[in-house]
Amino acid sequence: MSYLTGALWRRFTMSEQVHPIKVGLEIHRQFDTEHKLFCSCPTQLSEEPPENKFLRRLRPTQSELGQVDQAALFEFHRGKGIVYEADHKTSCLVEMDEEPPGRLNTEAIEVCLTAALLMNAKPVDEIHVMRKIVIDGSNTTGFQRTSVVALNGLLTIDGSTVPIDQISLEEDAARKTSQTREVTGYRIDRLGIPLIEVTTAPVLHSPSEVEKVALAIGNVLRATRKVKRGLGSVRQDLNISIPNGALIEIKGVQELELIGKAVQLEVDRQKSLLQIKDELKNRNVQSSTINRDYIDLTTLFQNTEARVFKEAILNNGVVLGMRLQHFGKLLGRELGAPGLRFGTELSGRASFWAGVGGIFHSDELPGYGITELEIEQVRKMLNLDGEDAFVLVADQYERAKDALGAVADRAVEALAGVPEETRNAMPDGSSRFLRPRPGAARMYPETDVPSAPITEQTIAELKSKLPETPEESIKRLTHQYSLNQKLSKQLMDSDYLALFERTAKASKNTQASFIATMLTETCKSLEREGFAVHEVSDEKIESIFQLVERGTIAKEAMLDLLKWQAKNPDSDPNDGINALGFQMLSETELEIIIDQHLEKNRKLVEEKGSGAFPSLMGSIMSEVRGKTDSKVVTEKLKKKLTKAA
Ligand SMILES: [Zn+2]
Repeated sequence: MSYLTGALWRRFTMSEQVHPIKVGLEIHRQFDTEHKLFCSCPTQLSEEPPENKFLRRLRPTQSELGQVDQAALFEFHRGKGIVYEADHKTSCLVEMDEEPPGRLNTEAIEVCLTAALLMNAKPVDEIHVMRKIVIDGSNTTGFQRTSVVALNGLLTIDGSTVPIDQISLEEDAARKTSQTREVTGYRIDRLGIPLIEVTTAPVLHSPSEVEKVALAIGNVLRATRKVKRGLGSVRQDLNISIPNGALIEIKGVQELELIGKAVQLEVDRQKSLLQIKDELKNRNVQSSTINRDYIDLTTLFQNTEARVFKEAILNNGVVLGMRLQHFGKLLGRELGAPGLRFGTELSGRASFWAGVGGIFHSDELPGYGITELEIEQVRKMLNLDGEDAFVLVADQYERAKDALGAVADRAVEALAGVPEETRNAMPDGSSRFLRPRPGAARMYPETDVPSAPITEQTIAELKSKLPETPEESIKRLTHQYSLNQKLSKQLMDSDYLALFERTAKASKNTQASFIATMLTETCKSLEREGFAVHEVSDEKIESIFQLVERGTIAKEAMLDLLKWQAKNPDSDPNDGINALGFQMLSETELEIIIDQHLEKNRKLVEEKGSGAFPSLMGSIMSEVRGKTDSKVVTEKLKKKLTKAA
């Protein structure tokens, strides 16, 4: 799949001697170990409501704060409260930061080392746990524990090699459950689940290449058979730069299928920003012409129908307006992805630095209840020229003022092209401003956890029992289960390899190729149709296969049962059989149905004899599909037709 189509790509490669884009990948994946990284809590998330909640305000010590970059410090000073939700099954005093962490989980170290060895990386002599400052509250401690386990790997993909810079073992953060302006809620069941981080060098040059490498790394991690699957278990970060652009970090691409698109959209975004830079230059805009003066427009909007403005004024807030000289028609300019405009970038900055919901700009008005007449008055009051743009914001005075300051800052940065920043991946592959890029010094040693030496002996032992590489697995699957190459490869790329092998080995009556097809092509197409099969546990899928194997339901019924299960992931498959009316027919019941059809079509049978088979088979199957095996129907019907003739 190539997102850079022919002409565009050629233009890139011909005009640039060096590679046009540079991408580095950071892949995070949860381990399915028995325990968390620093305590003996399980690595499962809770589905029950929390048993207790506690409020915290993070107070890092001064020495720690000294190393925090400006953005993190700012967030901290915003003084947000954080409510943590906990239960005794999935967390203990360690996650609550009321007890020091235990030693590094040996199983997690071994899985991490195994993955590292499969990627030909060199393990470190000793694992040192470090603290990485995180002040968004996703860690109760104010930092995330992380440790380098191996360096300088090399992965061979389709004949070419990709350097793996670093492989680390980390603790996962708490998961966000709610957010208001004052309080953020986090569930701490996820906090402490072991996470592997694989970082490639920034040597990938096209969206399709990035996607291929991400898939290959995913396969290596799965080869350990100790990683979790499903949404939320994998998070992919991208570092992307283009010539004359900037290094942009995109965080949290959850789906592999989105990676290529995310890269392409970021390239488009940076190119659009470079065009805007050129245009601003042509319009002779300089940082000195970007005036930070604003005007209070609250009186003007006293009787407005615009909901956001009305609410702000009701809450003793203000409406402020600012002129952006010579920025006319640029704020509405799309930056690659539909819905992502230059104005969206300004708005993101205003939200981050001032905590406002967003801004309104001239290119999107009239709209949001703001009328043509009001706009005319705004233009007059701000003394606007034809080529000018304006920005409005409604909130408490301090916030509104800070928001406009942030907008002006971002407007100045547009003169230089692309500002370096960390962005958040969106479900459509585009991204939004998350925060400025953090400074370098954000790590310091964790003194509560002793370092863990990696001995020659450990490595030798792990090397002697390395799991199959993905290539070896494909070969073996093809041979052992008589699958074709394509199906074996699809299994390898899916999350169901282990489930497939368990099921295929336990089956006598069900063909391995049927099981493989169901777990790959069928599951994929069901997902595309909107059935969340990934929500169904392996155990449930396995018992559906067992129902087929034992003849409780027909093979033909499996698809419908799987759809039902996806809609009712927590229910028992047997309930699905009842709900769908898939009770298997007894032989006698089937015989009676066949006889009824023969009787109804007596004329046809007398005229055509066994030639009546196709049409009879069709009408019988439409009645009994899912309740019996079509082979049995064929057999019985043929016998009866021969007898009748
Ligand atoms: Zn715990």
